[in-house]
Amino acid sequence: MAKQKKYIFVTGGVLSSIGKGITAASLGMLLEQRGIKVTMVKMDPYLNLDPGTMSPFQHGEVFVLDDGTETDLDLGHYQRFTQHAKFTRKNSFTAGRVYEAVLKKERAGEYLGKTVQVIPHVTDQIKENIRAAVEDADLAIIEVGGTVGDIEGLPFFEAIRQMKHQEGAENVLFAHLTLVPYIATAGELKTKPTQHSVKELREIGIQPDVLICRTDRVIDKEVKEKIGLFCNLSADCVFSARDADSIYDVPLFFSEEGLDDRIAEKLGIWTGRPDLSKWKAMVDVIHHPKHEVKIGIVGKYTDWRDAYKSISESLIHGGAANSTRVIPVYIDSEELEKGNLSAIQDVNGILVPGGFGERGIEGKIKAIEYARTENIPFFGICLGMQLAVVEFARNVAGLDHANSAEFKPGGDQNVIDLMESQKGVTDLGGTMRLGAYSCQVLQKFNGKPTHAFLAYQKEKISERHRHRFEVSNQFRSRLEESGLLVSGKNTDAAQGIELVEMIELPNHPWFLGCQFHPELLSRPLDPHPLFVQFIKASLSSGKAQTKLKGIK
Ligand code: GLN
Repeated sequence: MAKQKKYIFVTGGVLSSIGKGITAASLGMLLEQRGIKVTMVKMDPYLNLDPGTMSPFQHGEVFVLDDGTETDLDLGHYQRFTQHAKFTRKNSFTAGRVYEAVLKKERAGEYLGKTVQVIPHVTDQIKENIRAAVEDADLAIIEVGGTVGDIEGLPFFEAIRQMKHQEGAENVLFAHLTLVPYIATAGELKTKPTQHSVKELREIGIQPDVLICRTDRVIDKEVKEKIGLFCNLSADCVFSARDADSIYDVPLFFSEEGLDDRIAEKLGIWTGRPDLSKWKAMVDVIHHPKHEVKIGIVGKYTDWRDAYKSISESLIHGGAANSTRVIPVYIDSEELEKGNLSAIQDVNGILVPGGFGERGIEGKIKAIEYARTENIPFFGICLGMQLAVVEFARNVAGLDHANSAEFKPGGDQNVIDLMESQKGVTDLGGTMRLGAYSCQVLQKFNGKPTHAFLAYQKEKISERHRHRFEVSNQFRSRLEESGLLVSGKNTDAAQGIELVEMIELPNHPWFLGCQFHPELLSRPLDPHPLFVQFIKASLSSGKAQTKLKGIK
């Protein structure tokens, strides 16, 4: 018989945004470090088929997997906290995907004329999806999106209740994250919201096995006993999730309180304690770095930090690798457009991240021009790289009207354009280049190693993509003759068509753009080499304070 799988369901109560994703990811890290083969799943109760079409304003960034699946940003946390877990389309699904599967089966006659209902058909489909995701692992941590009590979440809660019944109580654990606020006027931690949230869970048949209480302090024994008494579990199953300076502290705090020991015991898992030495060393550098740099992130979602979650985490990783604290300075590109450039004059490095749509484009181009002419380290990601090519074309290669077809369809100097095969396709849905593609890194140029090669130290790499437009091969030689170096390319496309993957400027301290999203592969214990090199270059950037010149 196949080995019995273990399941941990992470649910949330009281409020959203109290850290369910980080909690789940932290459990993943702790259990994986015990040598268990872990996988993680996010179930989202909303009806969109995936978050690909959702605004980053509302939902945070879209995280893309190797197989091209567009997922929720929590998958990013799962990937950063684990080392070996593999994530595919199976690891993230929405109510929309569940209903889609059920309706397809209904049309195919698979329900044999029965009335198709939420219970059992939708709940069965949810369980089928969970089991499919866990096939290659021994233990799965499954996060239920939303908050207990949401109407749309009910089928998911019913499905996980049934799982405990069917898989055996010793194989399924319910971990509930709730809020225990400290009320200053009363001078005490309040347990009532937690009691209500657990009551709500128990009404739908779910008794939490462990409670994880988000607070601003460690919860003492007395409060744990009170919570335990009212929530029907022993005090040693109540844990605190206290506010942390770094999200990477969270698993260490959990481990100090014995959360992973208790979970292992409840699920009958016999392993040694996790080896946290590398993680502790990494966290130690984050808290006590030797240096500090300011990195300007020029974008349009600057008020919504979650829109750039993976980038800000990758900067932390790249910083830690250089024993450096990175202070992100979010710069609104529309402000730069108005001519107010003061914000970018005060940073040691400039990063222009990915994005869609015309807003703020010219401001980003100004920031790039500044970085190029003032020798400030520059890192352009996806749209950021495309705009670096546009800036170079306009100001160095003499293509005054250079633009991207995204902003000037039909323009005669579109150095960024749709791929030949996609021209004339009116429905843009499904035409994105999504997921992992290979890239050939140029080792040397004029006898000197390229910045790309210095970072990767190898010629064949794979990176994740999410874009529709490319550097146009029609203008490539003109750009190259003017001094733009193509240091990474993809040669897998049909008919020998090459796609530009990386560009750089050989005579600049560090000016690199990539068509892919390196931030989707960075981990704190395995920082992405481009981020490591960008921070390294920014550390020695002495020109950050110099006066502006040469900006049109
Ligand atoms: N909007 C650009 C494109 O579709 C860039 C996309 C991105 O930055 N992710 O090609």
